[in-house]
Amino acid sequence: MPGTRPLILITNDDGYDAPGIHALTEAVLGLGQVVVSAPDREQSGASHALTLDRPLRVRTVADGRYRITGTPTDCVHLAVDKLCGRLPDLVLSGINRGLNVGDDVTYSGTVAGALEGALLRIPAVAVSTATPPEGPIDYAQAARIACRVAERVLAEGLPTGTLLNVNVPHVPAKSIRVTRQGTREYRATAVERKDPSGRPYYWIDDIDMTPTGEPDGDHRAVAEGYVSISPLHTNMTHENSLESLAGWVEDLL
Ligand code: MN
Repeated sequence: MPGTRPLILITNDDGYDAPGIHALTEAVLGLGQVVVSAPDREQSGASHALTLDRPLRVRTVADGRYRITGTPTDCVHLAVDKLCGRLPDLVLSGINRGLNVGDDVTYSGTVAGALEGALLRIPAVAVSTATPPEGPIDYAQAARIACRVAERVLAEGLPTGTLLNVNVPHVPAKSIRVTRQGTREYRATAVERKDPSGRPYYWIDDIDMTPTGEPDGDHRAVAEGYVSISPLHTNMTHENSLESLAGWVEDLL
């Protein structure tokens, strides 16, 4: 409809009460009508989980502001079908407390919130910010950049099934680099503790990360003080393997 303000749906994985989502919401209020649909508790590491084994509850905090007993994917899914009233023009997810670069992208509930938007054919952007070595996170820079990116995506759109993964350094950014999703040196670690009855329990620990990563990768850009913007897509097919795989599946049956 001509004259209708764009509808922006916002979610995150740090939970409804996290400062990052409030900074993001405040930053884009001028761009259109904003609906916030976010998990009622932290869902970091939830990836693209969809809740199928229990009902989801929605608590309306204010007009267009919803806390949901689900994952970021649930929040987007439910908002698009039941809460928004019309199809959103943009899905924003974040601002995450900590980067989502390299292999972390596959665990990230923040990226998954945007991924769900992309799957529903809505342009989507995930935004994360680096944590400083000490002291509180300042979300102002990431919020400002998110607003600029959102404005641009609302105007230009994105190719169907794609999203932007935006990562912002904790220092004032030198500039912006378009990057690839990088990789990292991966080591699975878990900390073992004992409960009062002597039985072991475990915490998944931080995993070693490649400090800088590939020259054109997301890690490197942020480590060197740039904002990283990676275009990601929903289809996971590895095109280069199609031919070689066709060669060796012939004699499997
Ligand atoms: Mn998070």
